[in-house]
Amino acid sequence: MGTCPLTRMPLLRDNFTGLLHLWARPEVLTCTSWGAPIVWDGTFDPDVAQQEAIQQNLTIGLTVFAVGRYLEKYLARFLETAEQYFMVGQRVVYYVFTERPAAVPRLPLGTGRQLRVECVLRERRWQDVSMERMRTLHAALGGRLGREAHFVFCMDVDQYFSGAFGPETLADSVAQLHAWRYHWPRRLLPYESDPRSAAALAPGEGDFYYHAALFGGSVAALRRLTAHCARGQRQDRARGLEARWHDESHLNKFFWLHKPAKVLSPEFCWCPEIGRRAEIQPRLLWAPKEYPLVRD
Ligand code: UDP
Ligand code: MN
Repeated sequence: MGTCPLTRMPLLRDNFTGLLHLWARPEVLTCTSWGAPIVWDGTFDPDVAQQEAIQQNLTIGLTVFAVGRYLEKYLARFLETAEQYFMVGQRVVYYVFTERPAAVPRLPLGTGRQLRVECVLRERRWQDVSMERMRTLHAALGGRLGREAHFVFCMDVDQYFSGAFGPETLADSVAQLHAWRYHWPRRLLPYESDPRSAAALAPGEGDFYYHAALFGGSVAALRRLTAHCARGQRQDRARGLEARWHDESHLNKFFWLHKPAKVLSPEFCWCPEIGRRAEIQPRLLWAPKEYPLVRD
């Protein structure tokens, strides 16, 4: 059993990656101060992860919202590349949330992979579409999704897979480091600072800045996360407030209070506009932002 090179804390064996090879990437942070692994290429054995997941006979959910023009613009590529790279060899169930079920592309899916379409109302403001995801996910996790999946990832649609994204990413709760902010000093991270907001972090609080385009975990952990965020958003609205980065602000508050069991390096949600970085082997890429086209 290894110890974390930073904290000297013993590292528990990760269910899905065998022993983590934290020393394989000495140039990056591979362990949080509370002993959670930060997953980078080279720190895990994808075959061990694959075998562990198969032995547990897992079903993995992947939720994505495609409301308004986001559907035509992004959904097909998101799903096509997920078929190529997301949890290949595992049982997967996609949940697509949209107000236009008939417009969802019907892709040929690999064996053991299914797609379900759930109807949602279209909110008028894009901020509300984004935030409403927490309430909708909470309900879905309490229903069929929660019954059929063991682990679930919740993702933005404006991105696409470009490399293997496998069970090495699974854990009870999983947070994603934000590609633009992973090396910023904490005092510059854009947490909500208005103390009246449920999402507020005081100066000195916050571990990392997590990206709401991707989070995951067990059904039970995600029920708690989505309940927390939906409640915070409701409270803010009742006070006439809206957190600086909407659902992402509430997500960051949640992960400050309830530390994630696993953290994904920016390799798992990389922005190509940042340019090439020697330490980054990207697996999921942001699509170019085209706000004038997709937002009203
Ligand atoms: N979304 C959507 N329709 C909208 C606004 C948002 O489907 O009108 C969904 C979509 O999955 C999108 C996510 O909410 O990826 C978050 O919004 P966006 O990606 O625009 O936020 P950003 O990543 O730019 O902060
Ligand atoms: Mn996005």
